[in-house]
Amino acid sequence: MSKFLGAATVLSLLFLSPSAHAWWDMGHMTVAAVAYHQLTPSARARAASLLRLNPDFDKWVRSVPADQQDRVAFIHAATWADDIKRRDDYERGSIAHDGAEASANIGYADHRVHDYWHFVDLPFSPDGTPGASPQAPNALTQIEAFRKALASDANDDVKSYDLVWLLHLVGDVHQPLHATTRFSRALPKGDRGGNNETICLAFTCGAKLHAYWDGLLGDRGGPSDADTLAAALPTPDATAAAIDDPARWVSESERLAEQFVYAGPIVDGVGPFALTDAYQADAHRVAQQQVALAGARLARLISMALR
Ligand SMILES: [Zn+2]
Repeated sequence: MSKFLGAATVLSLLFLSPSAHAWWDMGHMTVAAVAYHQLTPSARARAASLLRLNPDFDKWVRSVPADQQDRVAFIHAATWADDIKRRDDYERGSIAHDGAEASANIGYADHRVHDYWHFVDLPFSPDGTPGASPQAPNALTQIEAFRKALASDANDDVKSYDLVWLLHLVGDVHQPLHATTRFSRALPKGDRGGNNETICLAFTCGAKLHAYWDGLLGDRGGPSDADTLAAALPTPDATAAAIDDPARWVSESERLAEQFVYAGPIVDGVGPFALTDAYQADAHRVAQQQVALAGARLARLISMALR
């Protein structure tokens, strides 16, 4: 990772980022870049026609040569679920606030942000503190719902919306801190997926543990940078890439969190914890492996659903 992003850049990004939204844009775009090259030709063509229905399509492909537009739109689309969080015409609400609309699947007429679709927090405790089950709807319920709708006779507006969300959520659930919350003696109500702990990098403290993990693929650049990053990722194990049950993706992420996120120097409490070189090397390796795996699995999911 260091060859793509210097330590100073990582530091500045951690502190400039407004809030944590799972892999920052570059991570999500890299997942999509990996997936694009692995789609079946028919699924790639169908996905391209669906993405033209997204209200941001023209913006995604402005000044892009015609023969590159499908690929660039596919990669950009992976960040749309985060982009709408910054729009005045989209409304943020909790599951309780959104009520029955929290699980809506009505296409682009839906102007809710649905923050709670971005994660599914399986409880984890290193010391036997009781945890709480994840709320629904969540990333797992929505991946299942959108995958089913994509393969159904739903209209193209709904399928386009669902495809754009899948491009994002499959990436999200491969970020270990989007799949778990730690319950412990010091944090008996949970750590909100690593949002309660802060870390120190070099001599700078204060970034959230969650944001550190979100930012491991960087946040600068566009689709061609994502393509370059994608090409440099390790090839995932074929058996792992063929796992198509999203519940297994989530439980794998939770186990990775136990093993690599909540590893020394992260102990109970809110920190700040000074990350060691060894911790950071593991974190970069896990992040790259997870992004490569997410891309391969996303390609299979879309190729199956858009046959
Ligand atoms: Zn997200």
